[in-house]
Amino acid sequence: MNQKKTKETLAAMVFVIFGGSGDLTWRKLVPAGFDLYRDGRMPKHFAIIAVGRSATSDATLRARFLDGINRFSPKGKAKSSDWNQFRRHISYHQGDYQDPATYTRLGEACDRLDRDWREKAIRIFHLATPPELFGIIPVMLAGAGLNQDRPRARIVVEKPIGHDLASAKKLNATLAENFHESQIFRIDHYLGKEPVRNILAFRFANPLFEPIWNRRYVDYVTITVAEAEGVGHRGGYYDQSGALRDMMQNHLMQLLCLVAMEPMVSFDPDEIRNKKVDVLHALRPIKPREVRRYAVRGQYGKGRVQGKNVRGYQSEDEVATGSKTETFAAMKLFVDNWRWQGVPFYLRTGKYLPQQVSEVSIQFRAVPHEAFPPESRQDWQASRLVLCIQPEEGIVQCFQAKVPGPKMDLRPVKMRFNYLGSPPVPSPDAYEILLGDVMHGDVTLFMRTDQVEAAWRILMPVIEAWGATPPKNFPNYAPGTWGPASAETLLEPGHRWPLPTVLTEPDKQL
Ligand code: NDP
Repeated sequence: MNQKKTKETLAAMVFVIFGGSGDLTWRKLVPAGFDLYRDGRMPKHFAIIAVGRSATSDATLRARFLDGINRFSPKGKAKSSDWNQFRRHISYHQGDYQDPATYTRLGEACDRLDRDWREKAIRIFHLATPPELFGIIPVMLAGAGLNQDRPRARIVVEKPIGHDLASAKKLNATLAENFHESQIFRIDHYLGKEPVRNILAFRFANPLFEPIWNRRYVDYVTITVAEAEGVGHRGGYYDQSGALRDMMQNHLMQLLCLVAMEPMVSFDPDEIRNKKVDVLHALRPIKPREVRRYAVRGQYGKGRVQGKNVRGYQSEDEVATGSKTETFAAMKLFVDNWRWQGVPFYLRTGKYLPQQVSEVSIQFRAVPHEAFPPESRQDWQASRLVLCIQPEEGIVQCFQAKVPGPKMDLRPVKMRFNYLGSPPVPSPDAYEILLGDVMHGDVTLFMRTDQVEAAWRILMPVIEAWGATPPKNFPNYAPGTWGPASAETLLEPGHRWPLPTVLTEPDKQL
């Protein structure tokens, strides 16, 4: 977050990307690096070394990276003058991840750069490989002594951190044996999104909402992270994971933490992370026999989406026949502390839902006494605050207003803050923010060991119960719907899953 240093004062950097020929590197990491470069936020001396097993040339790799930038950067296509400069910093390093020689040669390449630049560069080792390699690469890096320079050697780990609590602990232990926690950057890219970062600003830079941000005024909270697509080409990965592991354990839990946490005392990275982990520790554990009351799963069948026939999940590429993996998960959680006692937090996520949308809805309680006559309250809705995260970015406050005219008629209206402005200016991609923070050594937006493990701990009873009792009714929702009907059973009387709020929707005439 502290991005004050300029190109001239930033230390030299070497970005080593393991999985350099992969999808994430192509779609996210290199476009983010290029955007940092064209924003003038890269140091004078830097190198991107893409590591992979396949045989490819620097030229082929660079062409693929340019294609990724042109397709995926929110800042648009690369100007040839920028690209011609940037491309010189990219090279390919072929090697087997399990072979010590790969790391020896990498170390030598980094040493050569240090000598050329007459400066000891910061070395960022980014694990963008399949997760099976996350436990191996740190050990191999340490074997080659590439972990030793604590202030300068950094390791970035993508999700998933483990498959369950035990495997997350094992991976964290391997990371801790080879790197100090201050060197480890576990990415949850949701935390780099501007509207997610804005939750802290909104809550703690304004005295307006904090006094009512508690059980006295808040009735319930819903967090929705909906995807409009199916699993696409990621069936092989997804079938081993499912909605609970792929989304709930990380993105939705992190949103919950930001909404429910206590005010931080300072902007110290560990202070913020402590406050977030306090929320996870306060979540009421789900007893194995109560899983049905607190968690619902679903899987999409075949159907029609936007006029096209789509396959059911079990017929998707690389998905096991008769797969029981959930493509939808919803949970009801309680934060057992003074602020939130008794307030349900409903979380849901899934594939092939009606639209791609991520939002947090804070539903306030109804007024304690309804003094308005019944005829004025026909369309009554208690106040609601919506934090829109994607695709729209902003905040909407829904409240009651009087309809102009002689009678006291009330209608819901909206007050809006649109992050993107008018005309919209795209926010930087989350990876640009996060890679910038790795360069600056700022761990605030990254997941600490205890956060990851606390999130798994909450989900374990659900994972175990679902594993022990395979669903009999899969598939149980049609693509393009809001998941299985059973998601409604989580809701307490009077509560509902809100329809997504459209930030840019024109107001109806009062
Ligand atoms: P890919 O499947 O594209 O794999 C990345 C690279 O790893 C491949 O290009 C391949 O390179 C190498 N690789 C593949 N299989 C093996 C293997 N069995 N053994 C050794 N190397 C292998 O993955 P992604 O780029 O999609 O994802 C990378 C990581 O990032 C994953 O852990 C994923 O969970 C995570 N992630 C991905 C996201 C995405 O949108 N793609 C989003 C968030 C996280 P080569 O053959 O040249 O060695």
